[in-house]
Amino acid sequence: GEVDLSDAAARAKLHAELAEQIETHRGAYYRDDQPLVSDAEYDELSRRLEALEEQFPELVTDSSPTQTVGGSVDTSTFAPVEHIGRMYSLDNVFDFEELRAWHDRVRDAVSAKSKFLCELKIDGLAVNLLYRNGELVRAATRGDGRIGEDITANVRTIADIPQRLDTEFPPAEVEIRGEVFFPVEKFAELNAQLVAEGKPPFANPRNSAAGSLRQKDPAVTASRPLHMLVHGIAAWTPADDSHPEPAHQSEVYEQFRQWGLPISEYYKVLGTLDEIEEFISYYGDHRHDVTHEIDGIVVKIDDFAVQEALGYTSRAPRWATAYKYPPEEVTTKLLDIQVQV
Ligand code: NAD
Repeated sequence: GEVDLSDAAARAKLHAELAEQIETHRGAYYRDDQPLVSDAEYDELSRRLEALEEQFPELVTDSSPTQTVGGSVDTSTFAPVEHIGRMYSLDNVFDFEELRAWHDRVRDAVSAKSKFLCELKIDGLAVNLLYRNGELVRAATRGDGRIGEDITANVRTIADIPQRLDTEFPPAEVEIRGEVFFPVEKFAELNAQLVAEGKPPFANPRNSAAGSLRQKDPAVTASRPLHMLVHGIAAWTPADDSHPEPAHQSEVYEQFRQWGLPISEYYKVLGTLDEIEEFISYYGDHRHDVTHEIDGIVVKIDDFAVQEALGYTSRAPRWATAYKYPPEEVTTKLLDIQVQV
């Protein structure tokens, strides 16, 4: 029913209810890999909470879902690991007007004419790879952004991910972040197999990636056709002065490519808002031409100095935003099927 927002107690109650619902859905999605609602429904709850807090800022607390990175650590199955650099979520925009507002904000904040790196938002599971002197030593889920789950043995079964970086001069230490995904074309096959074995199927390819990776037994992970694409770095410690950290995100990607890491073939460095909108429209029409699911486009400032100047909120970088595509009916249908099984 309608809540009387002029009543302080009523709006505090609404705030608590929305926050609790969001936390419940985060648990189902991140801990259980079995969402109870579609992503669009979850996004709608998040937007209602954001709008309420915008109107009544006194309702904002440090633990509000608007201020935290969703995700938890299942310590009964995985060892907790502390990331060296924090892992963040992304702020969203849902139309070109909101995109323009973000663009104008970052352009006002920095006088530099930085370009924008546009890439597909891969609907998978965020994974943090730690390489020391070129060797993969650890892999973890995002968790709450500070502490993740140790999934090193499982990640070692993914063929895309090199155990050793292909370079004579690797950084002394670097965290490489990316997305593990389940190819869309293999998804129906996996669900058919699970149903035949009397096990519950997954709601969508994203959850099948998370469920396949977060297994106690790495042999199960090894049997699943998982892939990874990398899209971020943190905690780069150069080996020596003649091999410094690159100055642009796009340079890092080219470095990754040379090192044998899996890089998306679809990213573009663009200069103007018009070009960004064109990129977004193009992949809105071609989102099924790609092997993984796409839930939007990520726009990042390419220049690291500008990224640093803009910094982060407690939840997300200010130097990036995710343009979310409108929901597709198919997700809801898959959820319906799941409920019937
Ligand atoms: P997010 O998925 O909107 O954005 C952050 C993540 O995007 C990062 O962790 C990163 O790993 C990933 N990403 C993918 N491609 C990327 C790229 N090219 N560059 C940078 N990052 C990239 O935020 P979130 O906090 O992880 O999750 C929120 C979203 O998850 C919701 O909008 C919803 O779609 C979904 N969700 C759904 C439910 C549910 O119940 N259905 C519950 C929780 C979350």
